[in-house]
Amino acid sequence: MHTGGLLVGAHMSVAGGLEHAITAAVACGFNCMQLFTHSPRVWEAVLANGEECEHFRMLRRAHRIRFVSVHAPYLPNLATPDDKLWERSLATIRRDVKVSEAIGADVYVMHPGSRKGSSVKEAVRRVGEALKQLCEGGVPKVQLVLETTSGGGTMLGGRLEELAEIITIAEGSVPGLRCGVCIDTAHVFAAGWDVRRATGVASLMEGLRGTVGVNRLRMVHANDSMHGHGTGRDQHAHIGIGKIGLEGFRELMKVALLRRVPWILETPKDDEGADVRNRMALERVYHSTRRHVR
Ligand SMILES: [Zn+2]
Ligand SMILES: [Zn+2]
Repeated sequence: MHTGGLLVGAHMSVAGGLEHAITAAVACGFNCMQLFTHSPRVWEAVLANGEECEHFRMLRRAHRIRFVSVHAPYLPNLATPDDKLWERSLATIRRDVKVSEAIGADVYVMHPGSRKGSSVKEAVRRVGEALKQLCEGGVPKVQLVLETTSGGGTMLGGRLEELAEIITIAEGSVPGLRCGVCIDTAHVFAAGWDVRRATGVASLMEGLRGTVGVNRLRMVHANDSMHGHGTGRDQHAHIGIGKIGLEGFRELMKVALLRRVPWILETPKDDEGADVRNRMALERVYHSTRRHVR
């Protein structure tokens, strides 16, 4: 049980091995972290072996990392109408989920994908089917989590209804499956929720309540946005110096539910101090809004 203090981490590089990601996270003062199991821009990667995975688990325990999220690589697209690409995507994600289980990760977070020329309905069905197939042989020990996206172009995930439909399809055919949801602050802002204002945050929470259900919220991707509200453009900025600004993060942090889940930074790493500065910005917001929680 988490008592006091913000659960906070960042996406850490695994260049140099999985254990490097942990030591770097600890050095930045994080109690949570996110990683890729391998370079996200290649299909075939050498995955961590059993020994490396076991070592990661041991280090995580030793450093009391409270939450580990694995982010799916960029190339797979589980929403694609192209059968070959869909199969390849599923195979890649399947292997990646296995490694995530082996390192003892808490969640495996995926973007729903891009529908290309197909309809939203068909694309949603394909992602649901993929999640279902990931559960063949048993529901993974790592929780499958879908992330909200900026919804630009043919990308799924800019609307919470789409995530809800995918989850309904998958859970409807896999007993015991319980999917989670990740809110990315920059993505929801770009997708049309004006989280700079209390009304925008309220509408986001209302949206969650009316679609996937608030209890599915597993984590926040904490990013400010380079682009304006409702632009559908996805580019992350340092906390407080993008278009959301500190005022927006304050509004978000006033929500009791949001304060309880891990906040994972995916902000730029321009210099060595960037992660620490962004962590401190979030922690300051967390503490300064303590008396305004609703
Ligand atoms: Zn993501
Ligand atoms: Zn993004």
